[in-house]
Amino acid sequence: MPTETLNWAGFLSDIEGIAFTDAPQTVKLKSRDYFWYSPILNQKLRKCWAHMVVSPKTEAEVITVAAACAKWRIPVTPRGGGTGNYGQAVPLVGGIILDMTQMTRILEIGTGFIRCETGILIADLDDAVHVSGQELLMWPSTRSQATIGGFISGGSAGIGSVRHGVLRDDGNVRSLRIVTLEETPRIITLEGPDIQKAHHAYGTNGIITELELALQPAVDWHHGIALFDEYTQAVQFGEALCREDYDIYLISVVDKGFAQFYDKLTDVFPEGKHAVFSMVGPDTIEAFTADAATHGGHVSLMMNDTEIEQAKLPPAYECSYNHTTLQALKKDRSWTYLQVAYPQPYDPAADTTMLAEYGDDLLRHHEFARERGEYQLFAIPLLKFTTAEKLYEITARYEELGCTVFDAHVYTIAEGGMKQVDPVQMAFKAEADPYGLMNPGKTSEAEAVAVLGGSGDALP
Ligand SMILES: Cc1cc2nc3c(=O)[nH]c(=O)nc-3n(C[C@H](O)[C@H](O)[C@H](O)COP(=O)(O)OP(=O)(O)OC[C@H]3O[C@@H](n4cnc5c(N)ncnc54)[C@H](O)[C@@H]3O)c2cc1C
Repeated sequence: MPTETLNWAGFLSDIEGIAFTDAPQTVKLKSRDYFWYSPILNQKLRKCWAHMVVSPKTEAEVITVAAACAKWRIPVTPRGGGTGNYGQAVPLVGGIILDMTQMTRILEIGTGFIRCETGILIADLDDAVHVSGQELLMWPSTRSQATIGGFISGGSAGIGSVRHGVLRDDGNVRSLRIVTLEETPRIITLEGPDIQKAHHAYGTNGIITELELALQPAVDWHHGIALFDEYTQAVQFGEALCREDYDIYLISVVDKGFAQFYDKLTDVFPEGKHAVFSMVGPDTIEAFTADAATHGGHVSLMMNDTEIEQAKLPPAYECSYNHTTLQALKKDRSWTYLQVAYPQPYDPAADTTMLAEYGDDLLRHHEFARERGEYQLFAIPLLKFTTAEKLYEITARYEELGCTVFDAHVYTIAEGGMKQVDPVQMAFKAEADPYGLMNPGKTSEAEAVAVLGGSGDALP
């Protein structure tokens, strides 16, 4: 699908008055996300860029752009903050980047819900919600860089998930308003279970312009660190925190080997100690401290948002989820990561075996979350990267031991997080993107091969 030969003059004439740029530096910058976490994706995607960036300010402008793209058969890759990890916002076949970050209006805040445009930064959205005494149920550790539309389209869970479940759990996302990619675009509103048609679809089946999310009363979360001599003590402490009557927003367990990456935390996360990073409600701090002691540890830090900002320390959430990987990569680019799910309830045997066999290659990192009401433990271990073959050997070993590894080193939905082609999302794609112009090549390896030709290698 070579996009150089498309009728760009016709397209530009149709979107007259809408902001765009084809300045190479900006286009290249906006064609990237955090795919470089993976040396494998870095090799494949670093030379993929769009033809231009178009930045609509209103839904009416989105509709104009969608109509023009359908008419001239121009591929469209929506983009929020560009913090996705799997090249989700990287255009494989050129076309336009649809920069959503100008669409930042909050439309309504009511008791228990917010309705807004999708290009707003999550931090700005959550701050606005706090003025009403409420807060978002969950957000990624990229709260300050990511948009809410990007989180719904590319993310899955995050800070708050140990309390409220994952994004796909009922009631967390209340509605999505979607513009279709047709000559005469339609608006489709998805509600209830239908939200799954477009959630985590990588912008392949419609442009989400507005959404409605559930809210909860705000809590004065405190950023806590508890330290332990043994990693198993830290995990068991995390398990003990998973109680309905505790106010807990985050439980992230990291190996003592992470201490070297946290320069600003040397006093509270010293070498030689395993750590649990948490966000704890004021009513639970006493129990949190007592439980840490019961499990052989102690609390080295407990500060609320204001105090942690004044102390110039990173908030607990920037030491969790994929920020943990980022802290390591800032110091040493030879690390990458895996995403591992376990049969529940968690049995540490698989991790013990992996540590014995690959201890020099792996650094442990576990997160607690709830899914459909049940507490779960999953892992985002750091992996010392040598070759793709070694990475997939370690992946296979985890799987032999009964774990599920969601491949973070592919850019397609089916082969990555979902582990399958989702027929519901594909049916919705046929409806919302009949010409297959939205983020082409991202739904499955088969689609990538069809779009890119040859072996499906994404190198242009
Ligand atoms: C350091 C770090 C930490 C992270 N932590 C987490 C975490 O805790 N939890 C988590 O789930 N993820 C996490 N991620 C992944 C990523 O940050 C989240 O998925 C994030 O919410 C993406 O938001 P974004 O605005 O940057 O989206 P982008 O990267 O811009 O886009 C993500 C996907 O959504 C599509 N998209 C964007 N906007 C729209 C729209 N309006 N309509 C249709 N499609 C759209 C894009 O095409 C792309 O496929 C992390 C990533 C990094 C680098």
